[in-house]
Amino acid sequence: MDDLKKLASSMMEENEMDGYQKIDRYNEEKIKDISDKYYDILKDLGEDPNREGLLKTPERVAKALQFLTHGYDLNPSEILKSAMFTEEYSQMVLVKDIEVYSMCEHHMLPFFGKAHVAYIPNGKVVGLSKIPRVVDAFSRRLQVQERLTNEIRDCIQETLNPLGVAVVIECKHMCMSMRGIQKQNSVTTTSAFTGEFINNEKTRYEFMQLIAAHLS
Ligand SMILES: [Zn+2]
Repeated sequence: MDDLKKLASSMMEENEMDGYQKIDRYNEEKIKDISDKYYDILKDLGEDPNREGLLKTPERVAKALQFLTHGYDLNPSEILKSAMFTEEYSQMVLVKDIEVYSMCEHHMLPFFGKAHVAYIPNGKVVGLSKIPRVVDAFSRRLQVQERLTNEIRDCIQETLNPLGVAVVIECKHMCMSMRGIQKQNSVTTTSAFTGEFINNEKTRYEFMQLIAAHLS
């Protein structure tokens, strides 16, 4: 039992150092509050919140929303700082095809797709798994794709101070596919660059070539 406690607390410490907590615990008070509101929303939509299939729906929605916005509890810069190493390597480091799941702040509907992130080290590299976690920390919030792209770029630039950062994100937006103009297969692409990726056309071209096969 003591061993288990020790293990649990060391895992928690590790998570705190990472600035990363997985939300498998929920804030009960908030869940209750959001559930109550969704009960009323179901009624407003003309549904019967007391029918069998909907009985637990308000609570499920509340939990889902809390999970989908858990990025607010994460510190992306701390995630990077938890695994930064001095290294001579000075070629482009590229992490491609990072899955993105976010929600547009205008309709609170999902948008999802892929992010491609590159940087050119300036004496420091970061553990590769941290880049997708930074993407996740910013995307698990209410977002617009343009801001998401810039926030990832700025976080890496400011924390790691590399010679350049490149971020390209391509996503489908449910608010476009399911409502409004109903362009079901359109993909929105956004990009943001710093340093060498702005100043050096060859570097930017190389990056675009490396990700090109994956662009829709
Ligand atoms: Zn939208």
